[in-house]
Amino acid sequence: MSVIQYFPYDHLDVTVGIYKNRVLQTGNDEITLYELRMSHPYKQKVIDADALHSIEHLCLQYIYDRKMQNENVLFFGTMSCRTGCILIVQNMSTSDVVKLIEEMFQYAADFEGELPLLRMSDCGNIYGHDPLQAREEAARYLAVLKSNPQGNCSYYNS
Ligand SMILES: [Zn+2]
Repeated sequence: MSVIQYFPYDHLDVTVGIYKNRVLQTGNDEITLYELRMSHPYKQKVIDADALHSIEHLCLQYIYDRKMQNENVLFFGTMSCRTGCILIVQNMSTSDVVKLIEEMFQYAADFEGELPLLRMSDCGNIYGHDPLQAREEAARYLAVLKSNPQGNCSYYNS
């Protein structure tokens, strides 16, 4: 596996958006790590831990429902710093990834009912959730993405 692109960055410069962090080429497969930055570090509040946890469940459910977890999506999870999420995909165009992210967050923003993956066998902390705030945060992030005229995806250092 070889790293063909890597973009170190200064967190002070990271605004809300989607960032392609690195691309790995392994055989014929191209694996790409995206950062979904939902909060501007040190300038905006970090996302509440319970809300971010609920966003993770909702986005995972969206991925599972479309059976993408074994084909294109290798990983979706949250950043420990609570300013966003990580998405790792393989063999997906940037435009398809942006579309997927917008669809996932639309799903989270519109979600009503009981959160998915809420059995103890599915989750390490079923008590740590805030679905209402998750909807608000998802809607807020989505609004920023949709207002970005540059295609919603940037490289660091560009
Ligand atoms: Zn969980």
